[in-house]
Amino acid sequence: MYRSNTCGALRASDIGSEVILSGWVHKVRDKGFVAWIDLRDRYGITQLVFDQERTSKKLLDQARELGRETVIQAKGEVIERASKNPNIPTGEIEVLVTELTILNNSLLPPFTIEDETDGGEDIRMKYRYLDIRRNPVKNKLIFRHKVSMEVRKYLSDQGFIDIETPYLIKSTPEGARDFLVPSRMNEGQFYALPQSPQTFKQLLMVGGMDKYFQIVKCFRDEDLRADRQPEFTQIDCEMAFVEQEDILNTFEGLTKHLLKEIKGVDVEEFPRMTYDDAMRLYGNDKPDIRFGMQFGELNQVAQHKDFNVFNSAELVVGIAVPGAASYTRKEIDKLVDWVKRPQVGAKGMVYVKCNEDGTYKSSVDKFYDQEDLAKWAEITGAKPGDLICVLSGNTNETRAQLSALRMELATRLGLRKSDEFAPLWVVDFPLLELDEETGAYHAMHHPFTSPKPGQLELLETKPGEVKANAYDLVLNGNEIGGGSIRIYDKEIQATMFKHLGFTPEEAKAQFGFLMDAFQYGAPPHGGIAFGLDRLVAILGGQETIRDFIAFPKNNSGRDVMIDAPANIDEEQLKELHLKLDL
Ligand code: ASP
Repeated sequence: MYRSNTCGALRASDIGSEVILSGWVHKVRDKGFVAWIDLRDRYGITQLVFDQERTSKKLLDQARELGRETVIQAKGEVIERASKNPNIPTGEIEVLVTELTILNNSLLPPFTIEDETDGGEDIRMKYRYLDIRRNPVKNKLIFRHKVSMEVRKYLSDQGFIDIETPYLIKSTPEGARDFLVPSRMNEGQFYALPQSPQTFKQLLMVGGMDKYFQIVKCFRDEDLRADRQPEFTQIDCEMAFVEQEDILNTFEGLTKHLLKEIKGVDVEEFPRMTYDDAMRLYGNDKPDIRFGMQFGELNQVAQHKDFNVFNSAELVVGIAVPGAASYTRKEIDKLVDWVKRPQVGAKGMVYVKCNEDGTYKSSVDKFYDQEDLAKWAEITGAKPGDLICVLSGNTNETRAQLSALRMELATRLGLRKSDEFAPLWVVDFPLLELDEETGAYHAMHHPFTSPKPGQLELLETKPGEVKANAYDLVLNGNEIGGGSIRIYDKEIQATMFKHLGFTPEEAKAQFGFLMDAFQYGAPPHGGIAFGLDRLVAILGGQETIRDFIAFPKNNSGRDVMIDAPANIDEEQLKELHLKLDL
């Protein structure tokens, strides 16, 4: 028997028991005639004591030689600790060791295994197995486990069946590049790794499994913007015989369950907002509604004066920043520089200080009088003491820029509190999205999403205006889930592919199996997928998903621990009928 108890288990009530503990040497404190070792495992830390009077000098000498992270087994008696440590659950006791066995030695770790470590990100990733011994990482993995267990419990209780779908498949269009796997047995042919199990879950609905879920890996070969992973985990779900309302209610239920069980937070009914409103009021399809600062469109009141910048703009829009009228000239200049950074891309910023005495001072006083500025304040909801920031230009770009500014200012003002949870459904997304460069339309969600009832005809005349039965669940400014009611009619699906620029032959080659299945009594169906990594990070009150993943990849998609991706040898290439052309 390696251990009778874990290092987090023993309490004052165990005093007098003989125990065996196993774990890692966390710290050695040597006082000459007596030494203490903090012994660590997943469950906690227990203090071991080696005392030349009470046990033996030999044992004490052995103990003081032990290096950090040596794996040991210690037998002894639980005794009361002279100086108790109220900060740890085992702080009332220690184990007077009578027998010590070294189970394995350890090299000196390249960074300290402490909550506050001296190791930078790169070195911690290279030695991730050591990093996982640290509380901050270990606790996040345990937290993730708790969340996924609650997801399974809730969905299973609601009658959902967990079904696995294959990883070696054919392309699923979720808008990213596929990871490809060459097939040895089928010369010159490739599998694609799933960007999501989309087509399979729809086929499960045709198969009569009317409530499906899976916690599943998905693979997307994208340029890794900050905090994305090439492989990530989804809570993937699909239901048959449902309308949008059924899906929203079911998954609102799941999200409420998680907030309650994991955070102890009760949330009322989730608000719903159309995509158009989200863009108009927040410039963003995943608005953070923990705080206000809604957009106020100023075209009506700011155009047709002598200020040409506004007159020539498609959109003039502002936000009121609470309490920021006190910003100094220098602080405002810095803000203007911030919006002009290439990452944001605004050409400039107009501002209005709403003074406490009810007067206004703006950067465009030459063109606008107090009455004009009062209207701006009314539209943006600015109160005395606030600062109105106004951007102008092309609608889409200006909204994106002001949205970035809104989030930045809210962060600076401490309005994005990690212990506050503000979920929101965004509904009625456009079905198609115009690629400004090529002029072609893409599916905004994916090609299997159904248009809103009665909008099919619009597809021929004004494709950009067709709304979809598609919805996103947003939490604190993050899209944590998205889905749609699907097309389940072969002809409509074929029309959809046509509008996305597929020839009938291409559509058949790529998705013939799905359209075939639709001919055998496909039920109406729809679904949703949650990004588990992000959901867990938000519930855990953190910004980055990386620490919630045991073995994450870096920003270049590399696993620096196992050193992947890697070259393969000639023999393997030959077997796969591949030649490199670098
Ligand atoms: N497959 C979709 C996605 O990965 C989710 C869904 O439509 O259910 O975003």
